[in-house]
This record gives sequence, C-alpha cells and structure tokens, in this order.
Amino acid sequence: MRTDRLLHITLMAGAARALLCDVTRAAETARRIHRASRVCAAALGRGISGAAVLNAPRKGERLTLTFNGGGPAGALTIVSGPGVLKASIGDPSVELPLKPNGKLDVGGAIGREGRVIAVRDMGMKQPYIGQSALVSGEIAEDLAMYCTASEQQPTLCALGVRIGADGSASGAESVLAAGGLMIQPLPGCPEELLSALELRRELFADISAAIESESLESLAREFFGGLDPEILQEDSLEYRCDCGRDRMERALVAMGRGEIASMIEDQGGAELTCHFCGSAYSFTADQLGKLLALSKKS
Ligand SMILES: [Zn+2]
Repeated sequence: MRTDRLLHITLMAGAARALLCDVTRAAETARRIHRASRVCAAALGRGISGAAVLNAPRKGERLTLTFNGGGPAGALTIVSGPGVLKASIGDPSVELPLKPNGKLDVGGAIGREGRVIAVRDMGMKQPYIGQSALVSGEIAEDLAMYCTASEQQPTLCALGVRIGADGSASGAESVLAAGGLMIQPLPGCPEELLSALELRRELFADISAAIESESLESLAREFFGGLDPEILQEDSLEYRCDCGRDRMERALVAMGRGEIASMIEDQGGAELTCHFCGSAYSFTADQLGKLLALSKKS
C-alpha cells in the first residue's frame, strides 16, 4: 500500500532544490471528511500538495495558506506543520462543468479575484504574514507567484489530483493520485540550469498521472535526468488535524463575551465542529460560564 511522503532533492550539487510529494491518501481523506465534490476534492488535494512542498524546507514551522478568490466554493485553507496537515474549503459541495481541456475547473471554484495569504508561525511572538494576488485560482500558479512576488524566491510549481472510479463494485469515486512538485533555484544557480528546468515544464504538467503510475524516486530520475539529482531526505506525510478542546475553548473566548452569553441564554450550551476533521465539541452552560469569566479577565 502506498503511503504519503515527500522527497527533498537537490540538483547540480545544490544549485537548485526540488520538493516532490505524493499526498494521495491525505487528499482522499480530505475528500471523505468534507464529502467534497470532484472539483472541490481537486482543490483540497492541490492545496495539500502545495502547502506540503512549500513548507518542507522549513523545519518546525506551521504554515497556514488561504486562497480567497471570491469563487462559489469559498476560501480554501490548508495548514501544514509539525504534527499537522489538514485542509478545509468553504462549500465543499460546489461542482462545476469540466473545462474545455477536460480538466476540473478549480480556478472557477476558487475564483481569481483575491489573494493567497501565507501565515508562517515560527514559534515567535509574531508570525510572518505574506500575500500576493491570485493569478488563476488553479493553486499551483498562484503559489508560484506568491513565492516569487512575496518571498522573492523564483519558483516552478506543479500540483495535481486525479479522481476516478476506485475499482470497487459500487463504482464509487475516490482520489486515485495527488501530489506536487516545487523547484526553486538557490543563490548562485547558473542560468543554464534555469533554462533547462523551464524546458522541462511539460514533463511536470500532468503530475498526478505521473504519480499514479510511478514511484517518486523514478520520477525524480525521469524529471531531472542529466541534472545530477540527489535525494537528500524523505519525510512521511499524513492528514492529521491538531484540534482539541483547548483550541476550541480559545476560539470561544475569542468570539467575545456577547457571543458566549447568548449561547448560554439561547441554547443552554454550544456544539462546535472542527472545520478540518469534523470532530464535535460540546460545551454545557456551566462550562461556557467559566469561559465567559475568562474572557472578562482578558
Ligand atoms: Zn479537527
């Protein structure tokens, strides 16, 4: 059984780095949790791949990516970091017709009028927040533009999700393959390597089909043949939500006194559901009362 993982690769003795990941299982988990339509499952899977490759070189950081393009599916949010990899989308039921090229219309679902926002929490007081305008809402291009414009890091990015019949008797659909590739030149990268990578763009264009049929190692050899690819490290990945009662309590306190008081008065308690994993947390009026006292103090 394949597992989700990510390879850290260097090219030409460190002139550029490539991150290549298979997140098929995480994308399928996200599809199931959110009962997502095909186009929304593709958006979730591309987002998970993108956050995984973008955050991979930064050990210990928690990255939250939000794509907010004004489209019918609402905002796409992904969190990647130590012990967490999760995604949610505003309205996972939105479905759109295929694009003329036969691909799922992720850009139509997410929208193009808005921004991608990255919050990098390095465990310091203030997180780093970067943003850039969306290019197409297709996620990969938007992420490449974000890296180039906001982090001054030229980037090639390809992300893909394949959805189809899972081979069961019921003919149900599932994510067959999902993953991504991000390539970034490092300081001193020779011009020839940049143009060699540009010329290979086509090779990466159908990344999900490549991931479905081959191992990451053989893709690394195929994509980067002649560029001296070296696999430095492998990370294992897994869809994992890090919500918990304490996080929910903080969210309630942040809602403010008025909101908590009206929950006690109108509903005699509260039931909160995690947007990322669907876990439910219930709070009695007594428990809310204690949070009310806390929020008075703060
Ligand atoms: Zn959760």
